[in-house]
Amino acid sequence: MPKKIPMRQCLGCREMKPKRELIRAVRSPEGEISLDFKGKKPGRGAYLCPDPACLARARKSRALERAFSAQIPDEVWAGLEAQMQEAPKEHG
Ligand SMILES: [Zn+2]
Repeated sequence: MPKKIPMRQCLGCREMKPKRELIRAVRSPEGEISLDFKGKKPGRGAYLCPDPACLARARKSRALERAFSAQIPDEVWAGLEAQMQEAPKEHG
């Protein structure tokens, strides 16, 4: 058995993946939603694959809204998508 790796579920594809392979979406105490590539931002977190497709699925299923108990405006989704495009690719 491999060493214990912290696993988190992607809100898009619902797969369990090692935490460090996922991007943390965070809702700050002020209610601002952003992507957290370093896992250090304060606030409530949710996890997504570094894949715009998973972001789109999370949007469609409203999983992120549920995780944050908040409405996510279109411009925030657009911003998250833009941040997702810039996600550092660490695979390969
Ligand atoms: Zn995913």
